[in-house]
Amino acid sequence: MEEAAKERIHLCFYPFLSAASKYVEESGITLDNLIRTGAFRYARSRGKERIIEAINDGKVRKQVIISNAQAETELLSYPFARILVSCIGDEHLVRRYALSEAKAAYEKLLASTGSSSDTDIIYEMSEEFGIRVDFLPGEREQVQMPFGDYLRFAANLRDKRWKLVNRGLEKGEVKLRKSEFVRIIQEAMYERIKKDLPLDVPADICEAISGYTEDIKKELEEKRKKFGDAGFGFGFESGSGFLVKDPSCFPPCISYILSNLKEGVNVPHSARFAVTAFLLNVGLTEDEIIEIYKNSPDFDEDRTRYQVGHIAGDKGSVRYTAPSCATMRTYGNCIGNDEVCEKIPHPLSYYKLKLKMKMKMKKEQQGKSSQKEKDEKIL
Ligand code: SF4
Repeated sequence: MEEAAKERIHLCFYPFLSAASKYVEESGITLDNLIRTGAFRYARSRGKERIIEAINDGKVRKQVIISNAQAETELLSYPFARILVSCIGDEHLVRRYALSEAKAAYEKLLASTGSSSDTDIIYEMSEEFGIRVDFLPGEREQVQMPFGDYLRFAANLRDKRWKLVNRGLEKGEVKLRKSEFVRIIQEAMYERIKKDLPLDVPADICEAISGYTEDIKKELEEKRKKFGDAGFGFGFESGSGFLVKDPSCFPPCISYILSNLKEGVNVPHSARFAVTAFLLNVGLTEDEIIEIYKNSPDFDEDRTRYQVGHIAGDKGSVRYTAPSCATMRTYGNCIGNDEVCEKIPHPLSYYKLKLKMKMKMKKEQQGKSSQKEKDEKIL
């Protein structure tokens, strides 16, 4: 395969690289061409598909590229997807989309680092993101990077293994396994993809592509309906007509943690534990809880599944209950307390009390309406 074609295929897997932007710039394709001409309709459809995959799967699928035309479509679909998310202007979607692109690129990169040219790609990515990296002498699996760069990119990784105290630090260099370094690169990719989003797209352009944005908004709406605003599934009713898992009755501390998770903000371990234990106690399934964590920048499905399962008491371990208000306060997780909080010692008691209050209010309202109906019949 000619070099230019190989390069195009490489860039379509990492369309956020500076070389990819340069390629698009030098191709002579204008924004007007991209959004309006029939020649680029596949790139536009694929751009929309990238976002829909991000909404539904939390990851943009990497295509199998078999032709030059397909590589170009894939490459051009990336700037179009950025225009689409910008026109929609939903902060949550921007984060989810950026994270989904970064995850897909991470997986591709991780797979590539098993090949013979793996050191080249590691150096290419490091150079792109301004990180100095060195393979340790005689080692193919261990690298080291400057402590400053490590801190910058590992700041959002919450797992203990990323803490500096748990890593070998020598002469200002942090040692990592190659695969861990690729995870650090994922952080750099996420930063790059998210940078400048949402773009300031003129209204007439957003108007011209409204057919695509409307489809995406519908998909987003569906997802929200299914998983609720706090980002998870609920919806079956108890005999009393109330949602058994009713997020509107959650205590402020839990709603706060959920909204951070939904926004892709990194949440401390103690808060993750609290929210997971709480949700298990009110009846969410492990899968529903894992879905909530999908927006986290350091989401790793296997690890999350293991941790949620552990809190749930799978495989014979003890099932944990949610921490009390006193413990929540100790860890700085008691946020937004209100007048109901004054009456309870535990977030689960808050939930039960709030449900009762809601049920009482609903009965009173039903009583008032039936009285009104009777009065109307009499009149
Ligand atoms: S008082 Fe308890 S229920 Fe209320 S916000 Fe604090 S921890 Fe949550």
